[in-house]
Amino acid sequence: MTSIDIDTGLTDEDRAARDTCHAFAKEVLRPAGRELDRLPDPADVIAPKSILWDVFKKYQELGIHKLTADPSMDPIAKARLMCIINEELAWGDVGLAITLGLCGFHQPWIEQSGNKELLERFCSPDRLTISCWALTEPDHGSDTVAVTESFFSDPKLRANCTARKVGDEYVISGQKAAWVSNGSIAELAVLFCTLDPSQGFKGGAVFLVPLDLPGIHRPKPLDKLGQRSLNQGEIYFTDVRVPASYMVLGPEFYSMALETMLGYANSGMGQLFVGVARAAYDYAVDYAKQRVQGGVPIFEHQSVRGRLFKMFMKVEAARALVRRVALYTAANAPIVQYSIASKVFCTNTAFEVASEAVQIFGGNGLSREYPIEKVLRDARASMIEDGCNEVLGLLGGSRL
Ligand SMILES: Cc1cc2nc3c(=O)[nH]c(=O)nc-3n(C[C@H](O)[C@H](O)[C@H](O)COP(=O)(O)OP(=O)(O)OC[C@H]3O[C@@H](n4cnc5c(N)ncnc54)[C@H](O)[C@@H]3O)c2cc1C
Repeated sequence: MTSIDIDTGLTDEDRAARDTCHAFAKEVLRPAGRELDRLPDPADVIAPKSILWDVFKKYQELGIHKLTADPSMDPIAKARLMCIINEELAWGDVGLAITLGLCGFHQPWIEQSGNKELLERFCSPDRLTISCWALTEPDHGSDTVAVTESFFSDPKLRANCTARKVGDEYVISGQKAAWVSNGSIAELAVLFCTLDPSQGFKGGAVFLVPLDLPGIHRPKPLDKLGQRSLNQGEIYFTDVRVPASYMVLGPEFYSMALETMLGYANSGMGQLFVGVARAAYDYAVDYAKQRVQGGVPIFEHQSVRGRLFKMFMKVEAARALVRRVALYTAANAPIVQYSIASKVFCTNTAFEVASEAVQIFGGNGLSREYPIEKVLRDARASMIEDGCNEVLGLLGGSRL
């Protein structure tokens, strides 16, 4: 490791967890992520013989998902540990870190619903449940997250996915976009869709939808530039019927719940992309110490060292912001402008540091034989993921 974690709050348990996660990231996630990234057909990423399933198995065997599972754990200690876990896993491969991280996404929603059947089926501590957050629609990306903008409550914006109440059930129809992470393999969707179209997107509701129900169709996964190890795919709903108890909340609380969700999700994204920025920085330092030009390692050239130091400062600043926001958010309701600052700053940092790292690699930085071009592609996707950074800025800015 070329950087040191100088957080004085780390306990021996945190350090032990960090070492376990780092070893898993280095030995399992990094090689698997590279292999999956190179598959020309994204359908092969989720094929039965894919290395993806070994990754799930090893993750479960190591028990990383259980490190923060103890409900009696102090929330601040838990948040600090989550920052470490997310950073380390994303250092290995961010696409896989997101795939694995989403396995816990449904848990608080099911707990909030209090539905015993769903709790028993999807919240067993002995088995990972692959879940997804289905929000984005083919015709509405930013529209679905811009809670503070006037068009969010404009009924003229017609959603692609809606639910309606029929007797004791809700009937869900329409489509979610190909961008749903884990969309191709999830067992359960936390579905954000429109219930009252007269309020536009403000008339949304949150549903828990097992994805083996009749009427659900998932075509081929998405082929994309970065985070290729993360499977993404659209979900079609043809009159899918769910019991009324599968609705967690309706339009009355929808905007507030969405903003809170963005608060938690953006904080998590910040943590992950510190790991990506650090991976790019680590690759660049290692390369600069090996690559010889002018008879010396390029690390000895002043301008290269100066560039590396700027990268180092950015990674450290990103990590400091992320931990500050995460620790606050653990003890209080998230304040969305801080979470957004964490996501936007860290994803921009990851992209900038990865781009600088490519420059340090020279021509080799563009070659697929070297690892850095993948880090750049993975980082680029993050500036759109979980809300375009500009649109998140509209929401964060409105809270200043
Ligand atoms: C890697 C990745 C993972 C993702 N995972 C998920 C997931 O798990 N679940 C899910 O539901 N979605 C997911 N998404 C979708 C993501 O949230 C959307 O892509 C994002 O919200 C932007 O929507 P869009 O792509 O339709 O872009 P658009 O909304 O069409 O935006 C296009 C451009 O217009 C700008 N723009 C749009 N509206 C405005 C405005 N009002 N003011 C100013 N500028 C504006 C945007 O900034 C952007 O530059 C993921 C995306 C990526 C890339």
